[in-house]
Amino acid sequence: MTDEFVDRSHILHRTFSERPSKIVGGDGISLILENGKKVIDACCGPSVSCLGHSQPEIFDAIASHLKNDIAYVYSGSPYTNTATEELANMLLADKPGGLSKAIFVNSGSEATDAALKLAVQYWHERGQPQRTHFISRKQSYHGNTIGALCVSGHASRRELYQDFLSSNVSFVDPCYAYRMKQEDESDEKFVQRLSLQFENEVLRVGPDRVAGFIAETVSGTTLGCLPAVPGYFKAIRDICDKYDILLILDEIICGMGKTGTMHAWEQEGIRGPDIQTIGKALGAGFVPLSGVLLHQKIFDALSVGSGGLAHGHTFQAHPLACAAALASQKIIKRDNLIERVSQMGQKLESLLYKEIGPRPLVGDIRGRSLFWAIEFVLDTKSKTAFSPEYNFCGKVVKNALSLGLNLLGNLGHTGEYQVDHVLVCPPYITTDAELQDIISLLKAAILKTSQPFT
Ligand code: PLP
Repeated sequence: MTDEFVDRSHILHRTFSERPSKIVGGDGISLILENGKKVIDACCGPSVSCLGHSQPEIFDAIASHLKNDIAYVYSGSPYTNTATEELANMLLADKPGGLSKAIFVNSGSEATDAALKLAVQYWHERGQPQRTHFISRKQSYHGNTIGALCVSGHASRRELYQDFLSSNVSFVDPCYAYRMKQEDESDEKFVQRLSLQFENEVLRVGPDRVAGFIAETVSGTTLGCLPAVPGYFKAIRDICDKYDILLILDEIICGMGKTGTMHAWEQEGIRGPDIQTIGKALGAGFVPLSGVLLHQKIFDALSVGSGGLAHGHTFQAHPLACAAALASQKIIKRDNLIERVSQMGQKLESLLYKEIGPRPLVGDIRGRSLFWAIEFVLDTKSKTAFSPEYNFCGKVVKNALSLGLNLLGNLGHTGEYQVDHVLVCPPYITTDAELQDIISLLKAAILKTSQPFT
């Protein structure tokens, strides 16, 4: 049944049966509702608002940019602007892992599209135009445009669009230890099994046809803040190197400090990806911005080849978005917020295990620093999932909201495993007291949702 407000509204809302709550402002890490009530945002929207919802310094930077600089420059023309140059410089001056150039776009999905096109162009420039096949992972999510969906192993989001999706993409298993690692299997053996599967897929397709392997460094919304087991990305990087395949890491949701280092891959013992996508926390949600970071070797190939990038959008590298992101990143650096993420993350981790962990329907708690998920199951021993129709996590989110806590639940049927989870990834500025409040409200919401089963 369609809600009356949604029916009357000229906005096409995402869910027709539910009246959305109108947000009229922000206060620190809280959202302010129309009725004056506050909701603690424990997930930064979909892991975006890492600096909370009111940051006067960023508001000032945005206003000052508009007053003193330029609102819009077409980056497809021979122009640049200070904010864009400064932002790229701030992110890449130290060339992390050899990444030395940036492309800024408006959304994560556009970043994925740009990363795939860049990989295809790279192989073209290197005289291997047949390398157009990508290997991705099942139950992955890299965005919602057709290009990004091609490499997303998200079942329900692909379903309607099968006819448009490329057959030049194949999928291997994700590194989902909770359900996929056998009882007596060591991490090492699990990694060997997954990497062998990846290598076999490379050989099946033909190494000279594979352009790249794409993966989220820490899986976000489909598998719930899932870090790979130790050694997984090292094994993947080695296979990519062996067959000269580009490693594309999607850090749109997990990157930019959320896991306690600027880039999540820094904790994987690898030299870095060849192409990386970033977004969400890049601009902290004040103005939309995402990006692609590329290794110097990609730039070199394009340089000696066509001498340009065969891709672009009207609003690419929008100066205002770059100015807002620059202001956000400057605050993160000045206030040592990534170190703080690490410290607060340890507290969040121990609170989650202590207060939430020992519950009958809590199957797994996993994540890193301020990027965590709780996976719910009907039975912790057999790991039996709730039916998708029951939507346990959706009920937790609803109950949490009624208590004044904003959480993100999983987004429907994503593949073979029903991963019923909520994300807990509070802003980098969350205080100790707020962390306690988040845990108390979360616990109350889980208890309320669990009542029919206890
Ligand atoms: N990649 C990952 C890992 C994501 O989590 C998302 C969004 O949730 C995207 C890509 C797509 O980003 P956007 O929604 O900004 O297009």
